[in-house]
Order: sequence, then C-alpha cells, then structure tokens
Amino acid sequence: MSNSQVNHAYGEVADAISRFLAAPPEGTPSEIIEAFDLFGGDNFLPPKLFLETVEQAPVAISITDPKARILYVNQAFERLTGYARDEVIGKNESVLSSKSTPSAVYEDLWQTIKDGRVWRGNLVNHRRSGDEYLAELSISPVLNPDGRIAYYLGMHRDITDVHALQQRLQFQKGLTEAALDAAPMVVAMLDSEGTLLLDNHAYKALIADFPKNVEPVRLFLDALEQQTGFDLKKVCELEKGFTNIDVRLDRQGGQSPRWFICSGVRIDNFDDDARSYFRSGASAQCGLLLIANEVTESRKRINEARLNMIRANMAEQQIVQTMREAISASIFKMQAPLNIIKAVMSMSGGGTDCANVAPALRQALDSGEEAMESLHNALPGPRAEQSTIVNMNELLQDVLRLSTERLLAAGVVVDWHCTPVLPSVTGRPNALRGLLKYLIDNAIQALNEAGRDYREMRVETHDDNGEVVVAIMDNGPGIPEYEILKVFEPFHCGWEQPGDHAGMGLTMAQEVAISHGGSVEIDRHFIGGCRVFVRLPYAGHTGGSS
Ligand code: FAD
Repeated sequence: MSNSQVNHAYGEVADAISRFLAAPPEGTPSEIIEAFDLFGGDNFLPPKLFLETVEQAPVAISITDPKARILYVNQAFERLTGYARDEVIGKNESVLSSKSTPSAVYEDLWQTIKDGRVWRGNLVNHRRSGDEYLAELSISPVLNPDGRIAYYLGMHRDITDVHALQQRLQFQKGLTEAALDAAPMVVAMLDSEGTLLLDNHAYKALIADFPKNVEPVRLFLDALEQQTGFDLKKVCELEKGFTNIDVRLDRQGGQSPRWFICSGVRIDNFDDDARSYFRSGASAQCGLLLIANEVTESRKRINEARLNMIRANMAEQQIVQTMREAISASIFKMQAPLNIIKAVMSMSGGGTDCANVAPALRQALDSGEEAMESLHNALPGPRAEQSTIVNMNELLQDVLRLSTERLLAAGVVVDWHCTPVLPSVTGRPNALRGLLKYLIDNAIQALNEAGRDYREMRVETHDDNGEVVVAIMDNGPGIPEYEILKVFEPFHCGWEQPGDHAGMGLTMAQEVAISHGGSVEIDRHFIGGCRVFVRLPYAGHTGGSS
C-alpha cells in the first residue's frame, strides 16, 4: 500500500470514528468510547498516534464492513488468532468460527447488530493452528452520516482459562455436594449470622420433623447455646470450633426426640465484594460448618434402660406415697375426736357432774395422743434427692411413656406440642416426675369419668419469659369455679369414683412445684375440660422483656 493510500484509509476510518462518537449506539462499552474519543474528541490525536494506540491495545480488535468482511485487525488480533493481517483482510470473520457455536447464537448476534445495537457474547473460535478457544466478543455497529451501518467494530479476548476455571469450580461444587449428600450425617454451613449457606440430604430430611418455618439449624444453634453457652460470633472471633456436644431436639406430635452429637468447624467465608480484593484474611467473614451425627437409636436403647430404672423408682415412690397418704388420713381423722374430747374436758372444768367420766376422758385422750404420736413416727419422710439440671420435655416424655398402658386402656389420644428446645430447669427429677404423674393421672381419671367417645389429652411446653411452662389439658368434665381452690386442700376428693385416690395428688403436686420456686395453677378460663399449668423458673434467664 502506498503512503497516499494509507493516509486515505486513515482519513476514512477517522471520519467513521467521528460519526460513531457523535451518536454511539446504545450499550456501547465506555472503554470503546473513551478510546475513540482520544482520536475524534476535542483532544484530537493525530491519526497515526491513534492507530498506534489501537494497534498496541491488549485486546483483539477488528473492523469490518456491514457483511463482516475484515478491513482492519490489530496486533493483539494477530497474536491471539495466529493469522497475519494479510491472511484475513478481505475475508469474513467466519474464518475464526470453529463451527461449534450453535447457529441460534449467530442469529441473535446478527439480529442485534443489524438493529444498530451492541452484541456481547461468547463464541467458540479457532486459531490458524486449529486450536480452539472461547472468545468473549463485543460487536458495536458504526453508522455513516445517513444513519446506516457503515462498519462493525469487534473486540474479543480469549476466556478459555476463565471458562475452564468455572467448569472446574462447578465440577468441584458438584463433587462436594454429591459427597455431602451421600454422607449419613447432617451437614450444614452457616454464615456468622446463622444463615444457612449449604446443606445436604440428611439436613433436608430433618425439615419435616420440626415446626414449619423453623430452620433446623436454628434449633441446633439454640440447643447448643442452652447446653454450652455456645455463641456463633465468638466461634468466629476465637477461631475455635467445638467437638462432640450432645444435642436433643424434641419433635411435635409425641414422637420421641432426636439426638445428635455435634461438631463445628470454623471456616473462612468467601468475601466477594470488590473491596475485599486487597483485604487480607484478617477481616474476612467467618462461617461455621456444622456436622451432626444422629445417635437417636442408641439413645433410645439407653433411654429404655433408664426408663426401667425410673419405673422401679416410681413404683417404690408410689408405695411410700400411698403409705404417707393412708397414715396422714388416719392422723387427720383421729384429730377430730381428740379435739372433741379436749373441748369437752375444758368445758367441764373438772366440775362434780363430770367427775365420773373425767378419768375415762383423760384416758381416752392420753391413748389417742399416744396413737397419734406412733402414727407420726410411722409416717415415712420424703425421700432425699439431689437437685440437678433437668429438661421438662424429657421428664414429661418419661411419664407419658410410663403411663402408656393406662392411656391406651382409657382410650386417650395424647396430643404433644412441645417447644423443640426448652431451657433446662434445676430440680429434683424424681419429685418433678411425681408432680407430672399426679397431673396426668388426674387427666386420665377425669376422662374416664366423663365417658366421652373422644378422649384427648394435650400436653404443651414452652418458655415464658424466665419460666418453663408445662400445660396439661383434657377434654373431661373440668373443675367448677367454686372448686378451684378446694382441690388443692389435703384429702379433698371430688371424684365420682375415688378408687384409691385419697385427694392428696394436687396438694403434693403443688408442694413439689413450690419447693422448686414454681407453681401449679388451674386455668379458670379454660372451656371444654381442664387445663393445668405448671410453672418452673429456670436459671440463667437474663430478665424479662420490657
Ligand atoms: P454463516 O453461514 O456465515 O452464518 C450463520 C448464520 O449467521 C446465518 O444463518 C445468519 O443467521 C447469520 N448471518 C451471517 N451473516 C449474516 C449477515 N451478513 N446478515 C445477517 N445474518 C447473517 N464469528 C465467529 O465465529 N467468530 C468471531 O470471532 C466473529 N467475530 C465477528 C466480528 C464482527 C465485527 C462481525 C460483524 C461478525 C463476527 N462473527 C464472528 C460472525 C461471522 O461473521 C459469521 O456470521 C459467523 O462466524 C458464522 O459464520 P458461518 O460461516 O458459520 O455461518
């Protein structure tokens, strides 16, 4: 090409660029406008300098006529494609096509650029050597003065490595997910706010067992917090995880609880905001990989053995209790005649008209008091029991399991609505089991006496601002308003068929609750049966809500 031909070509390109800058098509990348502005804007650059800039740009640039016939390519284009300039000038850009890009992509490309819009996308190209590469391409139409497309400007770069990396990442992700899904243990990854980022099949299978809208991971975190004071944020700060912590999650509908042994590993979370590029790992966010191994079956077997011990213990407790009730009843009954004798003796004042019976009365009083003393001495004392940390859900479950036969015989359906993670109470487990048994026995008796076709007992537990509340409801006859205080009196028996009920159950239940700083209350507003609340304060509650 002669110098005059080159200058003419420069002049044509310069005109085209000025027109392009006057009305760049919508969506034209800003870097293209900036680059062209150097040439055609106010800071006019000599054509030679401009062409050198384009020549040396690190991205492959080509300019074509409206039929994609190549007019110009820069050095980066030559390097990337392996074609020398002379080999491609005058040829269609399709010389780069590896013929493996779907035709729909080309259709979209042409439709877009012929509309005067910028097309961006990826094409599979091949080099002169035949090697394939993935090209990330943008094509901008350049318009002539009458608004028709005069040229197309193409810019592309090789993104094969980026694609390979993405594919590898996708593969690794698939592999990790497949491995996690195949694992029998529950695996969940959370960010420092406790939001679930990743989980596996075993985790998803948990969801159906717990209340709707409650993410199981929240239950694990609550249980860990209650049992160990675990704090997710601290785990991140102290860069420590934890291992082998037992977690019990209670289920709805009376099903036995599920037990897990949990471990947590602190992991650095990825930080994908742009500013994180220059930040070191120090400020990177942290996450937690929670691994929970289910041990429910082995816990069930251990629990069965434990229940047998509790059963034996409660039977013994029952015998002692029956004796206490029988002796207390005798004391109670004997007290009345002795009081009468005392009253008669004090009224007579030792007068002559009573002189004959006075010795007999004194003798009766003495032997009565002697018998009372013997009865008091025979009264078995309450069994000493150490306080420990107890879970009321667990105690309730124990008592219900031990009452299964009676419940079945009475045809009672138990509806169990417990809070999956309940704060622990400090208390005497046997005494508290005894308390719950009195209430459950009462509900069964009430349902038997009501003789309804559908007999239901509903058991609920929840955390009420520093107190664990157990509610036991039945759809029996209920307790009339005027009886509500009386039923707590010793030996008050309102049953139609008292059987071996001595009227001490609620008295004893209240005694146990009070000795734990709690209470037993009958809900006077409950309609359609009876509802009893047991309230027990728990330690570690930081105060009521304002
Ligand atoms: P073709 O038979 O050429 O075309 C396939 C389909 O594309 C047709 O069925 C039709 O729908 C559409 N098409 C082709 N030409 C036209 C046209 N003139 N008007 C309307 N529709 C048309 N292709 C690449 O493979 N790699 C590149 O790097 C590349 N860079 C390009 C850069 C620019 C600036 C331009 C304008 C085009 C570029 N192309 C590129 C597209 C290229 O011109 C071909 O259209 C494409 O390679 C398909 O070629 P083909 O021979 O396989 O099929």
